Amino acid sequence: MLWCDGCVARARARAKRIGLLSGAVVAAGLASWIYLVQRPSAMLIGGWIGAVLATLWLVARAATELSYGVLRVRRGALAARGKASCGVRTALGRSRHSR
Ligand SMILES: [Zn+2]
Repeated sequence: MLWCDGCVARARARAKRIGLLSGAVVAAGLASWIYLVQRPSAMLIGGWIGAVLATLWLVARAATELSYGVLRVRRGALAARGKASCGVRTALGRSRHSR
């Protein structure tokens, strides 16, 4: 919508990194809560591991969509202020170019 194909790909890649990171952080938190508080028995450990993996997957997906949405909204705000050049802020700095 607002980006060229290259910037859509960059925004998606950035959103995916943020999503995976958020998923990993939440899953690690859940895993330590299970380990320290629930003290899982050998019988139940498979179920807990499944729960941690499901959490990782769900949070990563949700956070990816959320951060992609945030990037789009930010991009829209820039465009509305007349800074219409195409670009996505990446870990390496802002990549900006005209179409
Ligand atoms: Zn672009």
